Amino acid sequence: MTIHPEEVQIQNGGRRDMEVPASLMGRMAPPLRIEGAVQAVRRPAARPVPIPVPLATGHRFLIYKQDPSVTGLGVRPVFVPTVVLNGPADARVQTELQGATPVARNANGDFVFTPNTPQFDCAHAFAVVRQTLAMYERHNGGDPIPFAWNVGGNTDRITVFPHAAEGANAFYSRTAKALKFLFFTPQGQPPSNVLYTCRSLDIVSHETGHSVLDGLKPGWLAAGNPPQTGGLHESFGDLTAIFLALSQPDQAEAFVALTKANLHDKSFLPELAEEFGKALGMPAGLRNADNDLKLSEVGNEVHAISQVFTGAVYDVLADVYLFETARQRRTRDATILLIEVANQLCKLLFDAIVAAPATGARYVDVANKMLQISASRGDPAIYRTFIRNRFAVREITTAATPLRDLMSGEMRMTDADYTGDGQDVTEVEPHDEHSASLRAEQDRSLCCGTMQMPEYQVVDREKLAKRGSLEDDDILRDELDELRRAFSK
Ligand SMILES: [Zn+2]
Repeated sequence: MTIHPEEVQIQNGGRRDMEVPASLMGRMAPPLRIEGAVQAVRRPAARPVPIPVPLATGHRFLIYKQDPSVTGLGVRPVFVPTVVLNGPADARVQTELQGATPVARNANGDFVFTPNTPQFDCAHAFAVVRQTLAMYERHNGGDPIPFAWNVGGNTDRITVFPHAAEGANAFYSRTAKALKFLFFTPQGQPPSNVLYTCRSLDIVSHETGHSVLDGLKPGWLAAGNPPQTGGLHESFGDLTAIFLALSQPDQAEAFVALTKANLHDKSFLPELAEEFGKALGMPAGLRNADNDLKLSEVGNEVHAISQVFTGAVYDVLADVYLFETARQRRTRDATILLIEVANQLCKLLFDAIVAAPATGARYVDVANKMLQISASRGDPAIYRTFIRNRFAVREITTAATPLRDLMSGEMRMTDADYTGDGQDVTEVEPHDEHSASLRAEQDRSLCCGTMQMPEYQVVDREKLAKRGSLEDDDILRDELDELRRAFSK
């Protein structure tokens, strides 16, 4: 306990010559014990200083900044600046874990628990979902983004299940209005080495990304879309994890120091779901955003197709960061610059997706919206050169401006007006209309659990695009109709 000078004065009855009782001495902070007691009685009581604005509400949460295998970043407290009820729960998100929820805040009003306990897992999963929603709400002008079922005044929350079931997976389900994180024992490990997917920031933000995108573009999850639309969903999840990491100063700084500000250096940032990937025998994470895949190399397999889009956006991020670093080296800190560049690119991608078609969206549609929005918001022309180049070299779009400077490493990286050939084109064509990624059936066999849910495989895209809740009967609709006809004969 700390005794303040004013308290000493009161306790002493205001008498200057009174000794501080020996019983109180031991309870005082050392500096105060030495000088403060005498000074305190001489000084008039401090006037209270008015606080100009009400203090912000909010809570501390303890989270893994990447996952338990990325020990450099480890477990750290984060501040969630909104009201969170015991659960944890707020107006958009609630948590459910039998035997643990509702998890109560501690005496300080915080959700800080011993790592890897059920209470910690609930708090961790809630905090990462909340941070992901908050990031996109910032890009949405501060307005809430409806979940797919939030229509006609419906305000139902999404429910987060940190220990949903046993299995090596995680998923978002519109029918269940839920994010479910599974757990499993990796092959060859003792039964006590259980891997909980809810402890990965990448996995939790990836699945939350699916729920955000299903709210923005409810027609995109249906398997009846071309494979590239499925790829956009998977890619949005992965990019969400990268942009969430880069919205956090400690992660951005750790990354800048680790890689010497080189986005193409090996690091935790482009590697997604490291612990989960390792358990499956993939040392560089489940997926890697810093890849060189082209559309002609991926067929109709949606998980691979997604990496082509993710890789293109990641390359644009690296290009813009390089350009801005050269331009602002002496005026901006490298970490702050990275946070700003990533924030701007995330906003551009968000706006481009909002502006893209309601169903059947292709990569070229999103790329064109990125070009047009970038021009209308006044980005330097070289930003659009980066976007055109990176989508063209991946065989997503035609090369409206020659790629020879890019391929020969002779880009004028410090020239804000650089376009390659003087043309600041904002409308490009698909590289190959006949690509399997645009025409074939979607092969979702290697995707995350979300893409394998029957509700998105069976319910047609027009029905999904209408928004609203889904029932199990919607999944069985065709079969039930058929039975009804058969049983009516
Ligand atoms: Zn996914």
